[in-house]
Amino acid sequence: MNTNNNEATTLHGESRLVGCSSDEEPGAKTTYFSHNEIPVQLVSKRSSEFIRRFFPLTSPDSWNDWKWQLRNAYTSIDDLNKIMKLSDKEIMAINNLKGRLPLRITPYFASLIYDSNYSDPLRRNVIPVLEELLQTSTEQSDPLHEKSFSPVKGIVHRYPDRVLFTVTQVCSNYCRYCTRSHSVGRLDKLGRQDFEKAFNYIASHTEIRDVLISGGDPLTLNDETLDYILSSIRSIEHVEMIRIGTRIPVVLPQRITDNLINVLRKYHPLFLSLHFSHPAEITEECAKACNKLADGGFPLGSQTVLLKGINDNVPVMKELMHKLLKVRVRPYYLYQCDLIPGSGHFRTTVKKGLEIIKGLRGFTSGYAVPTFVIDAPGGGGKIPLLPEYVVEHNDEHIVLRNYKGELCEYPEK
Ligand code: SF4
Repeated sequence: MNTNNNEATTLHGESRLVGCSSDEEPGAKTTYFSHNEIPVQLVSKRSSEFIRRFFPLTSPDSWNDWKWQLRNAYTSIDDLNKIMKLSDKEIMAINNLKGRLPLRITPYFASLIYDSNYSDPLRRNVIPVLEELLQTSTEQSDPLHEKSFSPVKGIVHRYPDRVLFTVTQVCSNYCRYCTRSHSVGRLDKLGRQDFEKAFNYIASHTEIRDVLISGGDPLTLNDETLDYILSSIRSIEHVEMIRIGTRIPVVLPQRITDNLINVLRKYHPLFLSLHFSHPAEITEECAKACNKLADGGFPLGSQTVLLKGINDNVPVMKELMHKLLKVRVRPYYLYQCDLIPGSGHFRTTVKKGLEIIKGLRGFTSGYAVPTFVIDAPGGGGKIPLLPEYVVEHNDEHIVLRNYKGELCEYPEK
């Protein structure tokens, strides 16, 4: 799929959207701008160096075109061999991915890892290692039992007043610890009839006031398809808020175009849950994408999976949370890694997550402290976890330990 060194293909206007959902989904054929919508965006020094070495004929406009990024994504050992040296463990893992979560890395994200070593946290996010092929008895392909909570294709109705709507199985990068590794990256996509059935389900359940649009990554869909989905949901009177879960600002910040913002802003209140795992992901490009979204008026929250060797210590997590706030993203959830097959090398103990929360709370702004949760195996939902702050609690009083370890008392009467 990768077309490195084949820029002439793009420059000559040939359209090859292999694996890109952007032009494949149903939806109203509305044109928002008749001109070329690629905005003038920044190309960082780091990206410039990468382009000079590996895409010497590529213009900044092409690099900043999100569809170009998807067309040129790295999906095989041969692709990656052109830009970096893979370890034996990585090569063996990629060679054995049959039927598993595929490999896909945008050129933009590749520019962040091509000169890294094997333990680099960003590289570990996207390049599998041999341990991923090992499955333990506690791991399951669908640990949250989403399939059993799915009344119609694409909808997961687990909580009383809200639904998850997985609108695509495509992502621009595949994260090696993805909870939905059982379904994302497959060709199974929703057709027009599936969308209509999903909208009808939401419309006929008046208790649903909140719809979380996720995937895959919804922002790999083109603007017309997103408009079709959002307008259909927004037309349902009892839906009060819509959320979109996405990792796009991290892996494909070029996708956050003016046109996309114009489409999304028609559907306020619209919240975005952005997936981050490491402070190094917050580059100039990513910061610009987040700021654009914030300027569009969308409340931004972060979701982070606790990952061994990537973000499982207080300094890294604190730096991530601080950098998020600087780009106007409010830390929201820190997840204990789900029990998906081959995730053992990513999982920490729950104790580690509690230690991290303890190392944040009181030591930095409350806004920088996410809620640590376990998404209960079997579909029990998100359950928050807190370090032990309560020392004693009875009818008379509660005795608490503060962040400095000092005891404080508060009367119950
Ligand atoms: S972007 Fe989200 S849905 Fe896609 S692979 Fe990563 S975690 Fe999974």
